[in-house]
Amino acid sequence: MITKFIKRILRRDPMVRHTAAHTSGAPKRIPKKSHRIDPHLLSKNAVKVTQTLQKAGYEAFIVGGAVRDLALGISPKDFDVATNATPEQVQKLFRKARLIGRRFQIVHVTFFGKGQPEIIEVSTFRALLENAGEHVAENGRILRDNVWGSQHEDAARRDFSINAMYYDPATETVLDYHGGMADMQKQVLRMIGDPAKRYREDPIRMLRAIRFAAKTGFKLDVATSAPIAKLGKLIHDVPAARLFDEILKLLMSGYSWAAIQGLKDAGLHHGVLPLLDQILDSKETSKEAHDFVRIALANTDQRIQSGKSVSAGFLFATLLWPDLLRNWKKNLAKGISNIPALHDAMDETIASQSNGMVIQRRFESDMREIWSMQPRFEKRVGRYPYRLIESPRFRAGYDFMLLRCATGEQNPAIGEWWTSFIASDPAGQEALMASAKTEGGNQGSSISPAKRRRRRKPKAAAPPEGASS
Ligand code: ATP
Ligand code: MG
Repeated sequence: MITKFIKRILRRDPMVRHTAAHTSGAPKRIPKKSHRIDPHLLSKNAVKVTQTLQKAGYEAFIVGGAVRDLALGISPKDFDVATNATPEQVQKLFRKARLIGRRFQIVHVTFFGKGQPEIIEVSTFRALLENAGEHVAENGRILRDNVWGSQHEDAARRDFSINAMYYDPATETVLDYHGGMADMQKQVLRMIGDPAKRYREDPIRMLRAIRFAAKTGFKLDVATSAPIAKLGKLIHDVPAARLFDEILKLLMSGYSWAAIQGLKDAGLHHGVLPLLDQILDSKETSKEAHDFVRIALANTDQRIQSGKSVSAGFLFATLLWPDLLRNWKKNLAKGISNIPALHDAMDETIASQSNGMVIQRRFESDMREIWSMQPRFEKRVGRYPYRLIESPRFRAGYDFMLLRCATGEQNPAIGEWWTSFIASDPAGQEALMASAKTEGGNQGSSISPAKRRRRRKPKAAAPPEGASS
């Protein structure tokens, strides 16, 4: 898709090609015949928002990542609108509009239709904070950012040139302030302004650089990538919740494996997420663990690229599984019996992540459920499979088990058995139960029950599933 776009754009109007380093003053106006954005890829609701604002006498444009994706011929996953109306003025024009945020005050305009409601984020043009001393922390990080400004200023405070284009659906014109189209043709990600200063203002921009490079396949401009080696450590100053959101975006981008390699190449993975250290530093990671994570992420990327959903809990459960297996085996070797050994291992694995990015509680309970279900797939006797299939999170546990089969860490015959079991009628299920019995329906784990040496005292019994969230 992206290669097709590049070929297409290279054949375009030469006017667009000569806009590199167009960094100040009036924007380049790019007409439809040059940008060739397909209006069918636009969200009708986003167009409604720009129309309503324009009718009320304001300026309004689709902006940011949506314009970038439209120009790439990709359907944007969400739409942002920028306007010269203040948040209060915006709110008055729409029935379902909510003011949100403190650092970035924006308006969420919600539209209800078939399926999920659509939220269009509307933000007011913001001023550059060059001289706004009181808004900037000592290390240069921007703390508050609610000073309204001109469209020109709004463009200058965006991150990359390809993220600073404004599209007016009424005239089908793109306003390009920083040579974004030219950079797209050159397949370059270029930070607007002085990159080092922009990273100091907001270190998250370093992670965004890596994410967009992975997504677009574009190269980082030399000046954009150069300061990262020195400034990477500033990421630790970012509040944990924001860092978590950005890492989650990166993992859910549909290009997670490429992005993780990018983080590694840029030296940015250290201490962001301890599990990334474990996965990426080959000295500490076995080949099996590395392969498991690689296959799991490729699977996640494929799901996301084909429009399927992936839960964050599932994703973190896969990333931490090699560590969990290691702890589980270690506990078994100490003589703890199978299930308590697993639950202790879950606590240890989760605790080991807490000195880096905090994995939020809501995902922790999903992870625990998925993990604690795993030994239950091996119990194919009595009522066990019938009960397991009734678990509310069965599907996630089953998908996870199939992933383990795909990576060879679980016996693929067990995966096949369950796939048939789910699809069968009651008679078929009974036949499968009988066949499991002849195979010895309680086996198949890589963690062999034979390794258990003694039972734990009842006091130290395992917590119930998902109990710790
Ligand atoms: P996607 O939504 O595909 O992840 P996006 O570019 O739309 O990518 P958002 O986080 O939705 O990213 O932000 C919308 C726009 O806001 C960006 O395109 C960029 O212009 C601006 N922006 C977002 N975060 C920053 C930042 N940290 N620094 C400067 N500009 C930013
Ligand atoms: Mg966006």
